[in-house]
Amino acid sequence: MSLPVEPRFLCDEMLGRLARYLRFLGYDVEYRQGVRDEELVRRSREDDRLLLTRDRTLAQRTRRAVLLRSLAVEGQLRELSREVPDLDRGVRFLRCSLCNGPLYEADRSTPRPPRGVPEDRWGGPDPVYICRSCGQAYWEGSHTREIRLTLARAFGHEVSPGEGGSS
Ligand SMILES: [Zn+2]
Repeated sequence: MSLPVEPRFLCDEMLGRLARYLRFLGYDVEYRQGVRDEELVRRSREDDRLLLTRDRTLAQRTRRAVLLRSLAVEGQLRELSREVPDLDRGVRFLRCSLCNGPLYEADRSTPRPPRGVPEDRWGGPDPVYICRSCGQAYWEGSHTREIRLTLARAFGHEVSPGEGGSS
């Protein structure tokens, strides 16, 4: 399958969790519920996105689809990495997991933390990222540790001590 350098994805309704994980990997992932199959096929073609689905019939409607069989997100990521061998397997703070908006690194020179960011996190050493579209904040912490553990289970790699965060 020939893909652009940085593939973009379109997840069908059943794959909301996978969409969030792919965004944590830094990918541009469209996910909307209640969209008809014809519309998904059209979006995939027009917006140059690889359609990810667990629906065999839908997958057969376009060559730009990957049929996933696993119910669990770990298995889905593993299956996808076989189809897309260059798939990034680590957390990149590039995309909002909630809305797919682009993230930017917050300017730490302002004394007050943005909405949703604890004071101690704002004053700490690690960068804080903000979604340009919805304002959601992201940083290394217990949440990213859980995500990295899931990715480790999916891809079978070790989580190095520096990767997990300490909170
Ligand atoms: Zn967002």
